[in-house]
Amino acid sequence: MQDRPSARTLQQRLAEDVILGAEGYVFELERRGYIKAGPYVPEVILDVPEALIELHREFLRAGAEVMVALTYYAHREKLKTVGREGDLEEMNRTAVRIANQVAREGGALVAANISNTWSYDPADARRTAAIVRAQYEEQLSWAVDEGVDFVIAETNDYLGEALVGVEVCHELGLPAMVTFASVHPTSTYDGYAYVEACRRAADAGASIVGLNCSRGPRTIKPLLAELLAGVDAPIAAQPVPYRTSDATPAFESLITAEGGRAFPIQLEPFSCTRFEMAQFAGWAQHAGIRYIGICCGGGPHHVRAMAEALGRETPASRHSPAIDLHPVVGTSKADHAEMGGWVAQR
Ligand SMILES: [Zn+2]
Repeated sequence: MQDRPSARTLQQRLAEDVILGAEGYVFELERRGYIKAGPYVPEVILDVPEALIELHREFLRAGAEVMVALTYYAHREKLKTVGREGDLEEMNRTAVRIANQVAREGGALVAANISNTWSYDPADARRTAAIVRAQYEEQLSWAVDEGVDFVIAETNDYLGEALVGVEVCHELGLPAMVTFASVHPTSTYDGYAYVEACRRAADAGASIVGLNCSRGPRTIKPLLAELLAGVDAPIAAQPVPYRTSDATPAFESLITAEGGRAFPIQLEPFSCTRFEMAQFAGWAQHAGIRYIGICCGGGPHHVRAMAEALGRETPASRHSPAIDLHPVVGTSKADHAEMGGWVAQR
């Protein structure tokens, strides 16, 4: 087992300040043409590693303090569906190696990633938990071998599956952050209110608990308020940058203007601006969220705006907007009044 990659541990950073994370690698690499929507298996790790390295670097430059190894869905059952089970170990090891490589460029933490496996069934919990456990054990033993600071167990639909993840992390001596997807209004797929699920994950030993994916800033806030009031552990929040609403609190249920399902590849009309995500980051910091991030749909421009809302200057801040210098809508042009009038008419 290797030493932790980062000299400043997760716990030290948590004690000092809010941690800014960034995810959504699978969605972004799908948009860029390196991952197939539908199966969403991260074949890019082995096929075009430079594309993954570049996205890590963009998030790092934008202020992300955690490089999350792209092992989301890189588990045995998922790889079987695309006939790449034989690449499982190399895919996992390479993803962690790439996360380490880029993390070193900016002193970031390295996180291993485990996720919902679709193997768990609460009606057959004993048998299916063993299948989940075997997948997590092999993924995380490779990750430990390559060097990680902690594990992000995310997009959990079931408390039962999340607890398997916590157990495996504990056995490997790895701190764990456990977050639930909140597709249902109030509780996990196996019927635990999110606050109760987070409490149990924390009691089982998770260092950070909370929510990721599914909900946009507007509809994740009420659930986060419940967690802040009812869970005695650092809380994480990684919403999707989409305008979910009371009628459609999860992005999986957003409907297009034509009446079709917007999720997962027609979501653009619902996109949050960088300003909306910055506003969320400021709200979360003020509310007491300790790990603030973004999930599916997030881009480096969102992350930079969130970092700046937390009062930080990032390497990418060098190119943060200076709209006053814009030739049409800027304010520093001599013919500003004329151009302003032109804009107002548009
Ligand atoms: Zn997501």
